[in-house]
Amino acid sequence: MSGSARPLGRRTFLAGALAGTAVVAFDPLGRGWVTEASAAGGMPARAVAAPRLDGELVTDPAALAEAADDYGHIVHRTPVAVLRPGSVDDIVAIVRYANRHRIDVAMRGQGHATYGQAQVRGGVVIDSRTLATIHRVDARGAVVDAGVRWLDLARAAIGRGLTPPVLTDYVELSVGGTLGCGGIGGATQHYGLQVDTVLEIEVVTGRGELRRCSRTRDRALFEAVLGGLGQFAILTRATIRLVPAPTRARAYTLWYSDLETYLADQRRLLADGRFSSLEGQVARTGDDSGWEFFVDAAAYYTAPGAPDDAALLAGLHFDPARTVVAEYDFVDWVNRLASTVEFLKQIGVWYFPHPWTDLFLPSSRTADVVSTVLADLTLADTGQGPVLLYPFDTSKLRRPFVEVPRERVAFLFSLLRTAVPPEPAVVDRMVAGNRTAYELARDAGGTRYPIGSLHFSSRDWRDHYGRDWPAFAAAKAAYDPRRILTPGQGIFETP
Ligand SMILES: Cc1cc2nc3c(=O)[nH]c(=O)nc-3n(C[C@H](O)[C@H](O)[C@H](O)COP(=O)(O)OP(=O)(O)OC[C@H]3O[C@@H](n4cnc5c(N)ncnc54)[C@H](O)[C@@H]3O)c2cc1C
Repeated sequence: MSGSARPLGRRTFLAGALAGTAVVAFDPLGRGWVTEASAAGGMPARAVAAPRLDGELVTDPAALAEAADDYGHIVHRTPVAVLRPGSVDDIVAIVRYANRHRIDVAMRGQGHATYGQAQVRGGVVIDSRTLATIHRVDARGAVVDAGVRWLDLARAAIGRGLTPPVLTDYVELSVGGTLGCGGIGGATQHYGLQVDTVLEIEVVTGRGELRRCSRTRDRALFEAVLGGLGQFAILTRATIRLVPAPTRARAYTLWYSDLETYLADQRRLLADGRFSSLEGQVARTGDDSGWEFFVDAAAYYTAPGAPDDAALLAGLHFDPARTVVAEYDFVDWVNRLASTVEFLKQIGVWYFPHPWTDLFLPSSRTADVVSTVLADLTLADTGQGPVLLYPFDTSKLRRPFVEVPRERVAFLFSLLRTAVPPEPAVVDRMVAGNRTAYELARDAGGTRYPIGSLHFSSRDWRDHYGRDWPAFAAAKAAYDPRRILTPGQGIFETP
């Protein structure tokens, strides 16, 4: 089954040269790559030939600039080369080569992290978009390359009456990108995070070893990589569980003026699991005097069956006058943000800086943390970006390095800010606001979902992992002893 990978024939860097920008060697003394063009002026004496590749390693300014940017547009670290792999062997070759010469490496998916997580100053960024084949989709699961977007996997699966159990709200993210951090969505209440729905993975460890692992084979590596923030291995392929797909989704927007009432109903909905998808948001009141709340839920079904509205809405305390019910084909539901994203692109706001922060709050402290944050928050502080607030059951999350509060119920609280106007002072203020919100959450037993824009020191990371830190550090020593992988997270100092 074909995905969106570009076919690239076997070639050497020399043969693959793009206007002289293809890499031919590495200069370990000058710590730089030698391109075909620069080699024309004489090869440095100590230069080491680059490995043979199926794809290409490029240094052209456009490729480097793209790899030095992301959806946040806040952090910019320029690599010295970008690998567009033509095969998994290319990744093995470049990681081994990087080990020998102590070059940092990170894989980049769709570049939707917001704070340089996929960037590598002076190293190599591996662009997973050229490894994007959907190999198999059937009742045993989907086998996909790491560069496949969830949207493409969902479309292929739905076409066969199946679907990944958990999808993110925005589905133009790569499989490798979300499996590195977790992958939360409206179905997390039932199935956990996307990392909890993975059956098997193929990875290239920081040592350059190609390994396949699962719950029953090389389990320690399997557990470490899923939610391991790219610290131990590059994920090259995953087998993802699939469940039967519905054909339709009925979506319900239920409004609340009071935080405590909203949270109580959200807890009730989580406990009885009556909706297929359960999310919710905080919104500014129409008169801009404060904040209100809405449950954003959906019931999936297959026609001619239909959801029982009365049963779904029974016992809740929303404002019935403002209830909105909408019908979707399931594919359109999965891709429901597409029109909003298109609009934001048209008006340019999509390309503004996005100093996001995502927090996980223990249920018992959610009301006080959220009300403290909202007391000081204005629309200028969010740039009108959405504020998510919805619960999930932490007992369904099984990966050891996904850190969540130590209570059965936790809430995702996300400030998805846009810097408007897109100026450094606005970005700085928002990033500082993220830190304030994070400290409030942390002191209440909360954690961060590490995809956002937060200054985070190695001390903060130790605190983040808490009692899991020794195991996290031991896994780093075992799988990536030279600490070359994914430095953009800032977890480990370079030794
Ligand atoms: C508009 C938008 C909506 C979002 N909605 C959700 C949501 O609903 N739920 C949710 O959970 N998240 C959501 N996110 C966050 C998103 O899941 C993460 O930022 C994710 O990492 C982005 O995937 P990507 O392919 O863009 O990865 P990138 O930004 O390219 O990379 C992110 C990190 O993953 C690493 N990485 C990427 N690929 C691999 C790989 N194959 N192997 C090892 N490491 C790898 C990178 O090195 C980097 O550290 C959203 C983000 C945006 C911008």
